[in-house]
Amino acid sequence: MRLVLMGPPGAGKGTQAKRLAETFGLLHLSSGDIFRAERAAGSELGGKLAEYMDAGELVPDEIVVEVMARAMTRDGSQQGLLLDGFPRTVAQAEALDAELARADKPLDGVLVITADDDEIVGRITGRRSCPDCGRVYHIRFMPPTSDEQCDDCGTKLVQREDDVESVVRQRLENYKRQTEPVIRYYRERSEAPVKEVDGNPPPDAVTESLADVVREISSSGEAKA
Ligand code: ADP
Ligand code: AMP
Repeated sequence: MRLVLMGPPGAGKGTQAKRLAETFGLLHLSSGDIFRAERAAGSELGGKLAEYMDAGELVPDEIVVEVMARAMTRDGSQQGLLLDGFPRTVAQAEALDAELARADKPLDGVLVITADDDEIVGRITGRRSCPDCGRVYHIRFMPPTSDEQCDDCGTKLVQREDDVESVVRQRLENYKRQTEPVIRYYRERSEAPVKEVDGNPPPDAVTESLADVVREISSSGEAKA
């Protein structure tokens, strides 16, 4: 089964993707996580990515498509796939379709998590992440057990450079302008069903709704190995 998980920044994609990947045995590939790992490695590409990311701008399509195609070939050929944060422009969606068509492995579904703008700003400004294992927390909604430390590996949690209110507003604007058209693209030009899930309720309720949708897609008989 191959799925795309979409939604505005802070909707809960990363939180939910980890849970769904585990429940359904899918490989979770997050473009944002892949880019942050590249930055942490200190590569030349990482330096280029940082300029766009810290300004709340989308990374240019050519770079994104190349990096994601490489990650999908390297990691994703054998098992089901859950793409998180990619594609984010129509050009990226077209490139993904072409890549999947070449491998004769089309998408089975597109999941869209929705969330209100004010909820999003509160979530993102309170987000803390583990720089080591990538686990995501929220200072109020999903706090770590011990103050500011990762429950899993004990590493000190950090706030992302782009998780400040001014940059969040920019990212939200870009989502509406550049990424919402991707939802229309899938509705109009793809056979994969587009399913919207309300992301405003607490995390466990959102997980349940998403899992119901994934089961529905998987049992529709169209999901392929
Ligand atoms: P995205 O990957 O879409 O940017 P995240 O999964 O990183 O979003 O979630 C953004 C922030 O909101 C994190 O701090 C996370 O702990 C918190 N969060 C995620 N889902 C919910 C929810 N349903 N209710 C409250 N907070 C949430
Ligand atoms: P995320 O972790 O999904 O919030 O992404 C963080 C940042 O990485 C975004 O604000 C963009 O700058 C960049 N990014 C991640 N995925 C993409 C993508 N598919 N296209 C363009 N830029 C991306």
